[in-house]
Amino acid sequence: MRRFAVLVLILNLVVPSMAFSADETGLVGYSPRNSQIERDWETKFRAIPDPANLREYMQRLSARPHHVGSAYDKDNAEWILAHFKQWGLDAHIETFDVLFPTPKVRVLEMIEPVKFTAKLEEPALAVDPTSNQKSEQLPTYNAYSIDGDVTGPLVFVNYGLPEDYEKLDRLGISVKGAIVIAKYYHSWRGVKPKVAAEHGAIGCLIYSEPHDDGYSRDNVFPQGPMRSPDGVQRGSVMDFPSSNPGDPLTPGVGATPDAKRLPLKEAKSITKIPVLPISYGDAQPLLAALKGPMAPDDWRGTLPIPYHVGPGPAKVHLKVEFNWDIKKVYDVIAKIPGSMAPDEWVIRGNHHDAWVNGAEDPVSGQVALMEEARALGELLKQGWKPRRTIIYAAWDGEEPMLLGSTEWVETHADELRQHAAVYINTDGNDRGLLAMDGSHSLEQFINGVVRDIEDPETKLTVWQRRQLADIATSKSADERKELRQRADLRIDAPGSGTDYTAFLDHIGIAILNLSYQGEDEQGIYHSIYDDFYWYTHFSDIDFVYGRALAQTIGTSVIRFADAQVLPFDFVDFADTVQKYTRDLEKLLADKQEEIRERNQELDDGVFKATFDPRRPTVAPPREEVPPHLNFAPMHNAADSLTRSAEHYRQVLSHKQAVLGQDGVAEALATLNQQLIESERRLTNADGLPRRPWYKHLLYAPGVYTGYEVKTVPGVREGIEQDRYAEAEQEIARVAKVLEDESSLIKSAAQLLEQVGR
Ligand SMILES: [Zn+2]
Repeated sequence: MRRFAVLVLILNLVVPSMAFSADETGLVGYSPRNSQIERDWETKFRAIPDPANLREYMQRLSARPHHVGSAYDKDNAEWILAHFKQWGLDAHIETFDVLFPTPKVRVLEMIEPVKFTAKLEEPALAVDPTSNQKSEQLPTYNAYSIDGDVTGPLVFVNYGLPEDYEKLDRLGISVKGAIVIAKYYHSWRGVKPKVAAEHGAIGCLIYSEPHDDGYSRDNVFPQGPMRSPDGVQRGSVMDFPSSNPGDPLTPGVGATPDAKRLPLKEAKSITKIPVLPISYGDAQPLLAALKGPMAPDDWRGTLPIPYHVGPGPAKVHLKVEFNWDIKKVYDVIAKIPGSMAPDEWVIRGNHHDAWVNGAEDPVSGQVALMEEARALGELLKQGWKPRRTIIYAAWDGEEPMLLGSTEWVETHADELRQHAAVYINTDGNDRGLLAMDGSHSLEQFINGVVRDIEDPETKLTVWQRRQLADIATSKSADERKELRQRADLRIDAPGSGTDYTAFLDHIGIAILNLSYQGEDEQGIYHSIYDDFYWYTHFSDIDFVYGRALAQTIGTSVIRFADAQVLPFDFVDFADTVQKYTRDLEKLLADKQEEIRERNQELDDGVFKATFDPRRPTVAPPREEVPPHLNFAPMHNAADSLTRSAEHYRQVLSHKQAVLGQDGVAEALATLNQQLIESERRLTNADGLPRRPWYKHLLYAPGVYTGYEVKTVPGVREGIEQDRYAEAEQEIARVAKVLEDESSLIKSAAQLLEQVGR
């Protein structure tokens, strides 16, 4: 699984031809001599990945369905293990025992005003050779939906987000006792049943609207890449943003055989109401039977029906029952021991399990990971000795909700706290621009890497292509100015929905999450049609972006592993923190203004004046204008951070020349141990309000977004959800971790100043 981003490229502009040239200045954290040696190894590395291998691995890994608990899931893990070993890596499989429900009963029928029984079935297609593996395919369902048998009137709730229910309130419509039908996307899917249950709904259907990933965007599969009328998006609806990802029965600890397990009824992350995903083929008759007010303009899709909201007269019966079994997940872990700093770990992962055949998700990322592992094996044979320990991980159980990675992180939490310097994640790969999210202390680092990677289509560097494409799509002159002048492209803040979550949010390990994407539309996500046939007809068909991904991540891994000083930089980070602080102030000011304006309009009689008796609406309630909050502690901490970050960067660049001198090894080891701590400092042991598993105070998945990040979540969600006293307390907690971070950077600069004296 991963965040589904529709990123449309506008590349019909004329790009001045620019020769591809590697930046010849020294690498950050390297002495000039080591920088040259490193560049030679990196060049050797980038010549190794071969698209033909990527294709072959994909064909093998996606040949049969390989979800958690299936025969081919284990088979794939063993096949990956054998390859890691064959390439000379020290590898093993680590298993965990996790709760993984599979469907026993699925019934969806309309009983009024007309009878209709949903198919809940994706048909095999003659042209697509793996689509007929019926006996091995998981049926269409949402994992961690609770068992349930409910009947009620149907209500259409748009994307099923809190703001959609506010609109329903304006229409005078309640979902109490109703079954809601929501469209996929615009949030992580598990948010939809959560919000529905909070509003009193008794069941939740989620359908794939053709406007979002069907015929409105391109031809449907197999003529094109988009979702066909019977295509269904499977997926987890575990309420991980409010509780935690991973095995629901062992929160916070590894799901080893002897772990203490909660009884099922105490598991917090199971949904409160039954949920079922459906195709638009199954959704259309249900939606067509709705009456009541017309759905607001921006709720309507492109099915050939008038979109009414309900409630009813459509009355629906939904029944789901699951086998609540414990299954084994198989994480494949390979290690390359560090030659000089074995206790500093660089970790790289992608998951290998899929909902069905999963050629795109996750195999397109997994094959790049394998080709990197092969290339690292080659370098080792040629005499390369990485300074730090490198760990390669092929995770199992990501799709149900990050089971394999979370349980591994929870099991090894103490070691990871001490040793983990970085975790680099991928989760599938397509074609186009490099999407980059991660810890902002790595923004400068990843910008440096992608200046050295060639884009397969334009032959520009990946960095140049991304910069020019961002200029083309930017919406303001200020943004374009920044894109042209700022040394580094901004990376996005990490949310969730993939395997970096436990590393970053639970332990506080700096992460990067990368993929090429944006040129191809896709409507096969989590369906039986995400397979080798689809990928080799509609995505990176010649695997050149797979090679680019292996080159990008491999270069990142070895550059991080070999640096004399860990290549964290805090100037971009401090700049980001300054920006977040301003964003939060603006969020509060905008909300104050919005409520003030609405209250004024109520006083003015605007809602009375616009009331249409034939389409009655309810005026919004009067609300109290939010209080002012004191952001001064955050501003002061951010300023202190900016000063220490600039100072550290300066000292590091002055010391570059002496990093290779004799007798500095011990000082560098102490310095690196401090730098490893830098992301940990941004965590707090008590975690976020009401969700203590999430320890990072700057990044977390939003409680009501799931995939999408809430930066400075305690403060931001406090303001968004009207908890102003809490937001004020959170400002103080955030200011404290930022001050601590600033002290750490200061002390790192002092250590560095002593090096080579
Ligand atoms: Zn995935």
